[in-house]
Amino acid sequence: MSINIAIDGPAGAGKSTIAKLIAKKLAYIYVDTGAMYRTMALYFMRLGIKADETDKITCMCRDADISIEYRDGVQVVLLGDENVNGLIRTEEVGNMASATSANPAVREKLVELQRKLAAKADVVMDGRDIGTVVLPDAKVKVYLTASSAVRAKRRYDELIARGEQADLDKIEADIIERDNRDMTREISPLKQADDAVLIDSSYMTIDEVADAVIALIDKE
Ligand code: C5P
Repeated sequence: MSINIAIDGPAGAGKSTIAKLIAKKLAYIYVDTGAMYRTMALYFMRLGIKADETDKITCMCRDADISIEYRDGVQVVLLGDENVNGLIRTEEVGNMASATSANPAVREKLVELQRKLAAKADVVMDGRDIGTVVLPDAKVKVYLTASSAVRAKRRYDELIARGEQADLDKIEADIIERDNRDMTREISPLKQADDAVLIDSSYMTIDEVADAVIALIDKE
C-alpha cells in the first residue's frame, strides 16, 4: 500500500513550499490539490459562470476534463489538453476557487481524482481537507499555519519580487476573507484533523518547518 503524507492549512502558510521539499527528500510525488480547484475555477471563468451561479457550477463541473501529469517531476494540471499551470496563480482565480470549492459536486469530482493519485503512489498532498476527508488514513498529518499578517507579508514580498504591484492591507484582508470562507463552509471546511500535528510557521524558517515535518515522519 502506498504511503501518504497530508499537509493542510490556510492560504499562504507555506504548505506547497514545505510539501515540495519533503516530497523531494523522500522521493514521493507532490500533489497540489489547490491547483485542481484553481483549474476548475478557471474552467468556470472561461464559461462565463459567476461564483454565485450554484446550479450552473454543479451541472457544468461534471464536464470539466481536469487531469494531472508529472513532467520532469513537476505537477502539470491539464484542462483538456492544455497545460494551465501558468494561468491559475492569479488572485482572481484563487478567489474564484475559494468560492466554487464550496460546491459539493466540485469537491466530489476532485476528491476522487486526489484519492486515485494517492492510491497509485507515495504522495505528499497539500490542501484544506486532506487529513480530514481525502486521506483520513494518511501516515502523517500536519496542520501548517501562520498569522494572517505574516502570510500577507510573504505574499506581498513574492509579488514585489516578481515586479508586480501589491497592497499589503488588501492582501491581508483577502487572506482573512478566504480563510473565513474556507473554515465556515458546510462541506469539508478547513480544520485541523484530530490526529494532525499543528505547526505554526510564523517565526520559523522553511528549513526549520521541513525538519519538523521530517522528524514526525521518521518517528512513525
Ligand atoms: O491552496 P490554494 O490557495 O491554491 O487553493 C485555492 C482554493 O482552493 C482555496 O482557497 C480553497 O478554497 C480551495 N481548496 C479546497 N480544498 C483543497 C485545496 C484547495 O477547498 N484541498
